[in-house]
Amino acid sequence: MSGYFKELFTGTKSLAVGMGVTIRAFFSPVVTMQYPYETPKIPERFRGHIELVADDEGKPKCVACGMCQRACPSGCITVKGKKREDGGKGKVVSFYRLDFTKCSLCGQCVESCKFDAITFSKEYNLASTRKEDFIYDLLKRLQEKNS
Ligand code: SF4
Ligand code: SF4
Repeated sequence: MSGYFKELFTGTKSLAVGMGVTIRAFFSPVVTMQYPYETPKIPERFRGHIELVADDEGKPKCVACGMCQRACPSGCITVKGKKREDGGKGKVVSFYRLDFTKCSLCGQCVESCKFDAITFSKEYNLASTRKEDFIYDLLKRLQEKNS
């Protein structure tokens, strides 16, 4: 008979401990997210792939000087420019391609740009089985973003 009560006590105690854990977890702050339906708060210093920066008029700040292309140790960047339509000095960017498959996110390109024309994006949600999906036309992306 004493074995019966001992078992009953052990079982009840175990149930109470288990319920305690469940109740504590139920009332503690939620740390999980409904990915991909919710977007996490991206830290300020997060490094996604680079992207072009627009000026106040929504046009790319890039003047196609080619410094970022030369600075990239992995050969990810291809940039081309054309003469300005207003006849002004210098060039404007006409093509900017990033091969993100080779990028190490080292930041050399961003640091080398004297015009603050490129920055790290907050893009974290990248997934594909096709290599071509990671080759970006950054000029087109900027134009689509501002249209
Ligand atoms: S992003 Fe900056 S460094 Fe690169 S080509 Fe444009 S202006 Fe030059
Ligand atoms: S972050 Fe580094 S590897 Fe990536 S494009 Fe810029 S310079 Fe090249």
